[in-house]
Amino acid sequence: MKLSVIGAGYVGLVTAACFADRGHQVIGVDALDDKVRGLNRGEVPIYEPGLEDLIRRNLQAGRLTFTADTAQAVRDSEIVFICVGTPSRSDGEADLTAVATAAEQVAEALPGYRLIVEKSTVPVRTGERVRQVIQLVTRGAVEFDVACNPEFLREGSAVEDFLHPDRIVLGVETERAERLLRELYRGFDCPLLVTDLSTAELIKHASNAFLALKISYINAVANLCDRVGADVEVVADGMGYDRRIGRAFLDAGVGYGGSCFPKDLAAFIKIADEVGYDFGLLREVQKVNAEQRDLVIRRLQQAVWVLSGRVVALLGASFKPNTDDVRDSPAVEIGRRLVREGATVRVYDPAALRNFLQEVPEARPCRDAYDAASGADALVVLTAWDEFRALDLARLRSALRRPVVIDGRNVFDPPTMRAQGFLYHGIGR
Ligand code: NAD
Repeated sequence: MKLSVIGAGYVGLVTAACFADRGHQVIGVDALDDKVRGLNRGEVPIYEPGLEDLIRRNLQAGRLTFTADTAQAVRDSEIVFICVGTPSRSDGEADLTAVATAAEQVAEALPGYRLIVEKSTVPVRTGERVRQVIQLVTRGAVEFDVACNPEFLREGSAVEDFLHPDRIVLGVETERAERLLRELYRGFDCPLLVTDLSTAELIKHASNAFLALKISYINAVANLCDRVGADVEVVADGMGYDRRIGRAFLDAGVGYGGSCFPKDLAAFIKIADEVGYDFGLLREVQKVNAEQRDLVIRRLQQAVWVLSGRVVALLGASFKPNTDDVRDSPAVEIGRRLVREGATVRVYDPAALRNFLQEVPEARPCRDAYDAASGADALVVLTAWDEFRALDLARLRSALRRPVVIDGRNVFDPPTMRAQGFLYHGIGR
C-alpha cells in the first residue's frame, strides 16, 4: 500500500520504517528541511535500537523516502498518518497546534479519497476536530475518512514494539476505513480491536495514565518500605507473580518522566475536568511522582549536608535506558536543581549526553561512569542503563572523593554496596 507519515520523530520514523520494511511504499514527511535531507542520506537524528539499519535498508530498497512537501506526500499515498508532537501547555492541556497544522496541510492537498489516521496521542474528540477542519478546508468537496490508531511503542524498544504489539487499536467511522487499516495491518500477530474514534483515543490516554499510576503506586509503597525496613523490590516481586497484577511498571525509583506519561496524564486530567469529572486519583499519581524527585535531592542533602560547592556525579540523563530522549527526564530537573544550589554536576550517559547538555549546559560531560565519579562527593543513579549494573564497584569507590551513592533506580544490591564500603541509599530498600 502507499502511505505517508507526517512527523519524523520517535513515533513517525519508527512507523514509516516498519511499514516500509513490511513491503509498503512509504513517504516520511517532516517540517524540518535539515532533518529530511539527513534522513534521505540515512542519517537518523535519534537513538533507537535497530532503527538506523531499518531506515537505511528501506531507503536502499526504494520503499522509503523523506520529504518536507506534505502536499506531494498526500497526493502519492492512500493512507496518511499524523505522528506530530502533542506537548503540554502550561495548564496541562494538550497543545494540538501541530496536529491542527498537519490536518490543514493534508486537507489543502487532498486530491481525492484519503484515509487520515491520527497516531499522535490526542485528547478524546480530537478526531472529530480533525474531520471538521478537513471538511471546512475542502468545503465538503472531497471524500475522506478520519481514523485513530494510537501507538503504544516504548522508546528504547520501539521497533520491536511496533512490529510485535500487544494489540492494535483501530478507531474508525466507516467500513472503508476499517478495510484499509485491516489490510495494512494484515500479518500482525496480535488482537485487533476495532472501535469508534473516541474510544480509541481514550484507550491510549487510559493506558498511559494506568501505567503511570502503577509506578506511583509502587513508589508510595517504597516510601512505606523505607519507614518499616522492608524491601520494595521483593514486595514488587511478590505482587508481580499475581497474574492479575503483573511485575511490569512496579520498579520503585525516582519516578516516571519522558515525553509521554507526564503530558498524557496532565491532558487526561484536563479533559476529565472539562467534561465535569474530577480525576483526583490521577492528581495523586502526579504528586507522588514529583515527591520522588524531591526525595532524591533530600537523600543527597542528608548524605553530603550542604549542596553548594559539592561535586555530584549523575549516572544517566535520559528518562529511561536505551534512548537519548531527555524530555521531562528526572535527571534534567535534578541536574538543574543541583546547579541552582551551587553544586558542580558531572554527568555520564551512554546516549543522551548531548541532549542533556542542551538542557543543563552547566553540567560537565564525562567519558564514562568512573570519569563522572572522579573527585565527586556523591554519585546519583538516575537512569537504569544495564551497563551501570556491571560497574567495577571498587574502582567506582576509589574514584569518588566520598563513597556516597544515592541509587534513584535501585540498580545496585544494597548489602553488596554496604559491604563495599559505600554510604548507600536505594529507594524503598
Ligand atoms: P517528536 O517530537 O519526536 O516528533 C514530532 C515530529 O513532527 C518532529 O520531527 C517535527 O518536526 C514534526 N512536525 C511537527 N509538525 C509538523 C508538520 N506540520 N508537518 C510535518 N512535520 C511536523 O514526537 P514523538 O515523540 O514522535 O511523538 C509524536 C506523537 O506520538 C505524540 O503525540 C506522542 O505523545 C505520541 N507517542 C509518542 C511515543 C514515544 O515514545 N515518543 C509513544 C507513543 C505515542
